[in-house]
Amino acid sequence: MHEFSLASEVIDLAQNEAIKNAVTSIQEINIEVGDLSGVDADAFETALELLVKNTILENAVISIIRTPGIGKCNECDIEFEMVQRLDSCPDCHCFPSQIVGGEEFRVLSLLAE
Ligand SMILES: [Zn+2]
Repeated sequence: MHEFSLASEVIDLAQNEAIKNAVTSIQEINIEVGDLSGVDADAFETALELLVKNTILENAVISIIRTPGIGKCNECDIEFEMVQRLDSCPDCHCFPSQIVGGEEFRVLSLLAE
């Protein structure tokens, strides 16, 4: 499953950071998951909770920060909430719109001891 491989990538990243900074445990990790990133935030969180056992993140507080999808209409220049990548402008129903937010998938911060 896609979310499982992403979760193990995040754990690898945390482990590499910990080695680089010579820390032995991580207290907190914040991960941003955009609604249009193609990542199922709930599935990702479940995967991460399962995979952190016996890793540097085992006792870390995991926060998933979800960001809404934002589209921008090329015709009338307004920004609107986008639930799916193919949503059209609510005003002029013009299509396609530009995606300006919600595609993020990244580790925002790690807090180590
Ligand atoms: Zn429009």
